[in-house]
Amino acid sequence: PKPWFLCKLCQVVWNKHDISMKIGIVGLGLIGGSLGLDFRALNKHTVIGVSRRPETCAKAIQRGVVDDAHTDITFVASADVIFICTPIAYIASTVDQLIPHLSSTTILTDVGSVKASIVRTVEPLWPNFVGGHPMAGTAESGIDAALSKLFVDRAYVITPTQKTLPDSIAMIESLARSLHSKTYICTPDDHDRAVAWISHLPVMVSASLIEACLNEPSDDVLTLARTIASSGFRDTSRVGGGNPELGMMMARYNRDEVVRSLKAYQTQLSTITQCIETESWSELEEILQHTQTSRSTFL
Ligand code: NAP
Repeated sequence: PKPWFLCKLCQVVWNKHDISMKIGIVGLGLIGGSLGLDFRALNKHTVIGVSRRPETCAKAIQRGVVDDAHTDITFVASADVIFICTPIAYIASTVDQLIPHLSSTTILTDVGSVKASIVRTVEPLWPNFVGGHPMAGTAESGIDAALSKLFVDRAYVITPTQKTLPDSIAMIESLARSLHSKTYICTPDDHDRAVAWISHLPVMVSASLIEACLNEPSDDVLTLARTIASSGFRDTSRVGGGNPELGMMMARYNRDEVVRSLKAYQTQLSTITQCIETESWSELEEILQHTQTSRSTFL
């Protein structure tokens, strides 16, 4: 096709999605609240929310996260697109509760950090479902932690299957791009294997580092270590000091991939331990040289 035709086509797709919509958000915490702030800031959508506690709903309205909010799940049923932003354990049950109240055109999407188990459970319940994962966050949780522009320049992974409706994928992609996220499309399984490496394994490794350090038997040494700890320890312990509920959910709902990556990590640790024990300095140097050059390429 001629370039002008492609431009026209993009324009048609863009126009189709550049419309004002009613967006529903269930779970007004860090991610749900941050989505609400940014969707409202676009000044074209109506954003309505649901959370379990009335205090959360009141705070969400007061902070401008939503136009209106309620504790009753049916409150978001009239939305065109509903983002399920509850902890992973409640995503499927939330969809279950919503279904009797939805019109067949309603697009459901979620933001869970794990995709295969969610997509496998939710897709048969609601065919107009698109799995998603905005790759942004902080160590905080709850409505007070919601931040505007949290998703700018961050990856937003969309995980359709063969059955996902192309128009619904395009709609979620377009909404994610309107937050200035970079969108990526992959299978739920590939997503889970990839995030095990770059998100879930680091949480377990970082938590293990903190635990191992705290198990130092000498109180004096531990006090000294705490006093002189600087950016190295702060960087490497950061993700291990995050929301425990989220770490638990990663392990529980992405169990196979987390165990797989932990075992590979354990093998690598054994290699390094052996190098040091046997004073194989050139072998150790080779590993460290390889990681130094590969890290910059990888990132
Ligand atoms: P969060 O800050 O704890 O927010 C979750 C909110 O959901 C809570 O504020 C809670 O408020 C509400 N909630 C809990 N259960 C609910 C239910 N059954 N029905 C309705 N609302 C409910 O957690 P989050 O960090 O935003 O995580 C939410 C989702 O985003 C998770 O699925 C997580 O995997 C995903 N995610 C997290 C991050 C991250 O770095 N944190 C990044 C990407 C994706 P009430 O007490 O008022 O109900």
